[in-house]
Amino acid sequence: SIIIHWFRQDLRLADNPSLVAAAQAGDVLPLFILDDDNAGDHKTGAAGRSWLHHALNALNMSLDGKLCVMRGDPVDIIPKLVAKVGASGVFWNRCYEPWRIARDKMLKTNLTNNNIQVESFNGSLLWEPWTVLKGDGTPYRVFTPFYRRGCLNAAPPRLPLARPDAMQLVADPESSMSIDALNLLPDHDWGAKMASHWQIGEAAAMTRLHDFVEGGLNGYKDGRNFPARPHTSRLSAHLHWGEISPNMAWYAAIEKRDQAGFDNDIDVFLSELGWREFSHSLLYHFPHLPRQNLQPKFDSFPWQSDDNALRAWQQGKTGYPIIDAGMRELWETGYMHNRVRMIVGSFLVKNLLLHWHHGEAWFWDCLVDADLANNSAGWQWIAGCGADAAPYFRVFNPITQGTKFDADGSYTRRFVPELATLPNKYLFSPWEAPALELQAAGITLGKDYPNPIVDVKRSREAALAAFATTRVEP
Ligand code: FAD
Repeated sequence: SIIIHWFRQDLRLADNPSLVAAAQAGDVLPLFILDDDNAGDHKTGAAGRSWLHHALNALNMSLDGKLCVMRGDPVDIIPKLVAKVGASGVFWNRCYEPWRIARDKMLKTNLTNNNIQVESFNGSLLWEPWTVLKGDGTPYRVFTPFYRRGCLNAAPPRLPLARPDAMQLVADPESSMSIDALNLLPDHDWGAKMASHWQIGEAAAMTRLHDFVEGGLNGYKDGRNFPARPHTSRLSAHLHWGEISPNMAWYAAIEKRDQAGFDNDIDVFLSELGWREFSHSLLYHFPHLPRQNLQPKFDSFPWQSDDNALRAWQQGKTGYPIIDAGMRELWETGYMHNRVRMIVGSFLVKNLLLHWHHGEAWFWDCLVDADLANNSAGWQWIAGCGADAAPYFRVFNPITQGTKFDADGSYTRRFVPELATLPNKYLFSPWEAPALELQAAGITLGKDYPNPIVDVKRSREAALAAFATTRVEP
């Protein structure tokens, strides 16, 4: 019999529980559907689509070119495909975005009513949201108890599974379109430039994990805060698309604990994977996370509207070098280091007083790792309106953050090359540089590099005053 394995955010053969089960149950028809129909305003953004294009090509190669590629609404497409090829079952790994859950439920009802076997599996999380709850059965809203009391006391994550060895693949060339025909690549050279920074696909993800565990993990605890250091894994896009499972990352790090003796680094890395679990749990239990403040008192926050300031932020032209470096890193590479995400996020919502939705939307379109759970939770955290958020009065100062976390300026100079020869002392506040220093560095402020678009001290005070006006509606 034929079983359809529907690939979604699990674009890999190794540690893929649904694929293993499908291969045991029959011949496997591997299917991918680009579903923009059900995604509403969260269809995959431009950087994500570009990544997906390459990820699908890699997957298709590992399936001997037999991946069936389609576009449209799976609720219509899959039952027709089942009937056409005479499949007896449809298997998939679960997703947790509210729109995918609703769609999958509908499809499951439809198929089971027609006596088609439907099986779903956990292929993307270490602990699914409904397995980690407080004693009273309600979801955790604070990370530390979620992770320490909830996750670490629950059954350990599944050990990674081998890829199915004797899988019989079935193709349906009549139904399949080419990956190119999905038109996932942007029609300007931005996409090619961005993709040049990445190796995409399952094999590349495995190499990245291996290199990180052997190279970057030792020193991760402190090193992860410094954007120029090679101490972050850069696995986020691979994890989002499921080119690697969190279980593989989790156990690769744990295995190192037995051999290495940098246990603190390993524990912090595991807890970062724990943040990913926490974000997914928040999204599952609070499906309005991408749109609504988790703390309702922020609903009355007096956000400003300033298109020029928003554009300057998006384009990396705020006049604050660490902010501009981060925003340009994002534009050039589709990625931004976590420390810098926090600095630019705080600047947008606190110094510019612009709604976090603007930041969420820009990141959504520009990040190769754009992920509904992590992005929404990250923005709610930085805006201070999330469940377990940075307190609102914590405003990151872009000058001191730059001085502290990019002391030798190598990250900032890489992405803001016009400041390349400005001495470190003035790198994060060029307007304080004496005229002679600016001249020697070949910079005219306002011409070669912008003047600051806001004063960070005054805007911080304005933000705190705005916060003082927020209240819970009676
Ligand atoms: P590492 O430090 O190597 O961490 C390993 C993995 O743990 C990451 O790949 C990621 O899956 C997970 N992780 C690490 N930090 C976090 C975190 N704070 N929250 C959730 N998971 C985490 N991450 C995304 O994957 N997609 C997003 O769209 C996204 N948007 C963000 C928006 C904002 C405003 C902020 C502050 C953070 C956001 N993050 C997002 C979280 C984090 O910045 C990235 O996961 C991280 O920078 C990815 O780099 P890495 O793989 O080298 O991380």
